Amino acid sequence: MTRLNENYLKVEKSYLFTDIEHKVHAFSEANPDAKIIRMGIGDVTRPLARPIVDGLKAASEEQAHVETFKGYGPEKGYAFLRDAIADKVYLSRGINITAEDIFISDGAKSDMGNFLDILAKGLDVLIADPVYPVYMDTNIMEGNRIHKLPCLAENDFLPQVPKDQKADLIYICSPNNPTGMTMTREALEDWVSYALEQDAIILFDAAYEAFIQDDSLPRSIYEIPGAEKVAVEVRSFSKFAGFTGLRCGYTVIPSGLMVRSEDGQNYPLADFWMRRQTTKYNGVPYVVQRAAEAAYTDEGYAACMENIRYYLDNAKALKEALETLGLKVYGAENAPYIWAETPADQTSWEYFDFLLNEAHLVVTPGSGFGACGEGYIRLSAFASHEDTKEAISRLNAIVKN
Ligand code: PLP
Repeated sequence: MTRLNENYLKVEKSYLFTDIEHKVHAFSEANPDAKIIRMGIGDVTRPLARPIVDGLKAASEEQAHVETFKGYGPEKGYAFLRDAIADKVYLSRGINITAEDIFISDGAKSDMGNFLDILAKGLDVLIADPVYPVYMDTNIMEGNRIHKLPCLAENDFLPQVPKDQKADLIYICSPNNPTGMTMTREALEDWVSYALEQDAIILFDAAYEAFIQDDSLPRSIYEIPGAEKVAVEVRSFSKFAGFTGLRCGYTVIPSGLMVRSEDGQNYPLADFWMRRQTTKYNGVPYVVQRAAEAAYTDEGYAACMENIRYYLDNAKALKEALETLGLKVYGAENAPYIWAETPADQTSWEYFDFLLNEAHLVVTPGSGFGACGEGYIRLSAFASHEDTKEAISRLNAIVKN
């Protein structure tokens, strides 16, 4: 019989959100009248901004005409979108990333996982704990050696450069899922120096960059000198422009970033990503790329930022409500996630059960993101204002009782 990739046996069987769903399902079967508010999963709820829908519609109409119909698109993505990204995200902010360095994809999650295809197996990989589970699981699937970086209250939940640890690949997510904390410029400088010293690659996940409000915080790793030699940046339209259903993201690989073969030869990493993508992937639909382009028009960008503001208002209100409950609360200022410490005698899952039973609120147990997440819960700010308000009044009722 055909043999399995045994690494798949080492990945946790049940996905965190499936476990949560089972619990919520059992609760709603037992309490059919309870109105459950979901603040667990990080999916957006605001509809697409009008300029994006207009872009989508216009591109769809083009498909009905022989002159404008599109088949397979260019391998890296259409130039109109790569130019818009290079211009709006990087060049206009003084960062030397060009359209040549940008590869359009169907989202950050697939790029993060697929990226491991072009690297050697058995790498030493540094991953934060708690963490977005995709980094951990994809590295287990590849059989890499994972070294966890504990992110705790005493280090502001930011991964610290290890003292005596060899590294080939380093995952950094800022603003962070799940903790909602953001890397400072100094912290990121430390990581870039370490990566240069180790000849390692940093995989920088900037899926939540649009939520950064504090101008002193870096939005791109390429704001740090030297990063263009060691960092791959992955971005997404999912949270910035509400594309969780539409699907679009991109990966930046600067032309000066090199990898080495076993015989000591250096090669540009971007060439192998190009080879991988052209062999295994046929790109994002034209209509979706036109919709993504619309997010960078003045009107489109302003509308996306309005949605970001909407979620950040929820985050602020939830943070205050949890503080009223006497909890220590982190994140929520430059990210759509609130990371709250559970009361002293309760584990993450116990407090999850408490909030589900007493307030009919679904949160995410911090322990689901790694051992260092034990004793925390994550709330997402992606619900509607109305649901957030209702959740807060239920939390206040808990305080009163
Ligand atoms: N990176 C992080 C840190 C995320 O939290 C998520 C989604 O929740 C993603 C990437 C996935 O992004 P996409 O929808 O572009 O695949």
